[in-house]
Amino acid sequence: MKKMFLVATLVAALAPMEGLAESAFEACIGDIRAKAVQEGVDADVADRVLGSVRHLDRVIELDQRQPEFSTPFVDYLGPRVTTQRIDQGRALLQTHRALLERVQAATGVPPAYLVAFWGMETNYGSYFGRTSVPSALATLACDPRRAEYFAEELIAALRIIEEGAIPFERMEGSWAGAMGHVQFMPSVFLRYAVDGDGDGKRDLWNSIPDAMMSAGNFLNALGWDPKYRWGREVVLPQGFDYSQAGRTARRPLNEWRRLGVTDVHGNPVADIDLEAALLLPAGHLGPAFLVYPNFNVIMGWNRSEFFALAVGHLADRISGAGRLYRPPPADAARLSRAQVVQLQSQLNDKGFNSGEADGILGPATRNAISQYQLANGMIADGFPEETLLARLGIAPKGHQ
Ligand code: CA
Repeated sequence: MKKMFLVATLVAALAPMEGLAESAFEACIGDIRAKAVQEGVDADVADRVLGSVRHLDRVIELDQRQPEFSTPFVDYLGPRVTTQRIDQGRALLQTHRALLERVQAATGVPPAYLVAFWGMETNYGSYFGRTSVPSALATLACDPRRAEYFAEELIAALRIIEEGAIPFERMEGSWAGAMGHVQFMPSVFLRYAVDGDGDGKRDLWNSIPDAMMSAGNFLNALGWDPKYRWGREVVLPQGFDYSQAGRTARRPLNEWRRLGVTDVHGNPVADIDLEAALLLPAGHLGPAFLVYPNFNVIMGWNRSEFFALAVGHLADRISGAGRLYRPPPADAARLSRAQVVQLQSQLNDKGFNSGEADGILGPATRNAISQYQLANGMIADGFPEETLLARLGIAPKGHQ
């Protein structure tokens, strides 16, 4: 009797599923509309835009997608800092020289960095993303995972439409709502986008002056220091203690100099009191970088060390610098998520705290690796290199 009742209930719940999901989406959009209007968004704009947004299943798929393998630095950098991108960046630096110098005068951000961000974000405007930003944001704002954040972004998008920056049908961008030449999220657009060409509109889709001036303005607001570069590739002396690496282990440049760190030409790094951290994105066999305060500014744009290193390196290359002195090894281990979980569990079992075994190679895991390496007489670079993996019985892709 009870069982039959349960089955009947399930059937009843399953049958109108689609309709239910749809009405839940509509109810959610209704709530956001009320909130937007309450916060001062024009009711007609809210009705017009929110009346036509659609739930995009694909956006949820992309948002929930988790990479199967960890990305080694070599795999990140290679497709982003290409010969094509360097050459085009150098050409654009010339084409837009006057504009970029005007942006530098106004914001302090040098031309090569502006072009590097442009190249990294959209390959110089060749790809903005073709997703309807209002629909993408509406979809994410009605998904429980980060509803509040995306509801704010959706309301920001309504304000941008209200100010007339772009008709809502043409407000296209990435599946996560990043827009235009430099892929600003709506909240960043609202706060930092500026009219660079003086036509009275902030148009980051169709105006390169608006996009470049806005990028400079955002970086300036994040604290860009025009006196310094982003950082540089360095060479470490024999017998260097690699456990000093890590973005939070900052020390003055003159201390790194005392430790024997040089630039790639063998000259000691500058004898100045500038905070710098040592990064080894591919372990001790790959390039070493000292990163300066502007590196953290780049991470304020996108919270990824690989992204910030790629922007810095691309800016250098656009300015005329050559390849990395010590390129990351091409045969880097590509660990699956399951293997990272295995690595984390083993480290935790042995008393090296790598935090929750979540399959993500984050700072806690790198620290645990470093401690394990130190305890086992290995080079403590916090990097999951072959010897360590072999010792723990983990065989990554390419090394089976
Ligand atoms: Ca404009």
